[in-house]
Amino acid sequence: MRVRDLGENGFIRRIRERFPNTAVTLGIGDDAAIVGIGPGNSIVYCSDLLAENTHFLRDLHPPDSIGYKAVAVNVSDVGAMGGVPLYFTLSIALPGELDLSWADGFLEGIARACGEFQVSLVGGDSSSAERIFVDVSMIGRAETGKEVRRSGAKPGDGIYITGALGGSALGLEHLRSGDAKHASVQRHLYPSPRHRVGQAVASKAHAMIDISDGLSTDLGHIVEESKVSARIYKNRIPAAAGTTDVHVLHGGEEYELLIVAPDLPATIEGVPLTRIGEIIAATMEPQAFLIDGTLEVTLKPAGYEHFRG
Ligand code: ADP
Ligand code: MG
Repeated sequence: MRVRDLGENGFIRRIRERFPNTAVTLGIGDDAAIVGIGPGNSIVYCSDLLAENTHFLRDLHPPDSIGYKAVAVNVSDVGAMGGVPLYFTLSIALPGELDLSWADGFLEGIARACGEFQVSLVGGDSSSAERIFVDVSMIGRAETGKEVRRSGAKPGDGIYITGALGGSALGLEHLRSGDAKHASVQRHLYPSPRHRVGQAVASKAHAMIDISDGLSTDLGHIVEESKVSARIYKNRIPAAAGTTDVHVLHGGEEYELLIVAPDLPATIEGVPLTRIGEIIAATMEPQAFLIDGTLEVTLKPAGYEHFRG
């Protein structure tokens, strides 16, 4: 058997079963871990790795976008727990022959993200490797008991999406085809994490996840962890300009939030929210259904999965 046969989700399940992490409030399996640190306060802790040729191509992606994204995706995961991102470490492996201008551009992107998201770099590690690897590990804080997990969705709850979907996948296509000037490319290179929305809804939301692997896959995580099913309506899902159904339903690296809550306003922190469906009781296996006109189909997770993708 190969790692490919397990897929990313099966591989993570294998680690999770072996390390149940009973000593912390919440271990492996959500957007971030939660560790209680005394009355009222919790640490929210996560990391994300970007690998050259898997997450980015040196010839296509500007170095500052890699730095920016490495921080932004972790800000997004902390925000998806309802937490406030604070400090991070940066571990990086680079080929020795890499031009210093790449590293400087990369650090420029890190610095810009620090300013925009109000987070600070406090350490890390540097190493040589044949390809570029970047890992950011971030800690944030949350009020104990207000952290929002993937597992709290209840039948009758609404399913909400921040912003619009599909733009990042479209942007990657344009970037690959040599059309770097297309507006969607910015969205792919410099994602806008919705941590401020995540913090604002923390006391109202029953479940939350950021859309990093695609709506179908990330909604799949919510229904699986919450042991419920979901019904969403295709014509209600906000689509970015120029996108197809595949971009919207399965496109990754959106970093919008999928929020499950009884009722939310149309705008929070200046970000539009759209109710795209509702949570229903799971009859057999937890699953998501997509209503398309008079048609109802099961929405199978078809977003990005490492080792398979
Ligand atoms: P996200 O898309 O939100 O970053 P992932 O799908 O990367 O989440 O990870 C899901 C969960 O599995 C997270 O809780 C993460 O910490 C955990 N996880 C992933 N890879 C590993 C690993 N190698 N060791 C331990 N935990 C892991
Ligand atoms: Mg996430």
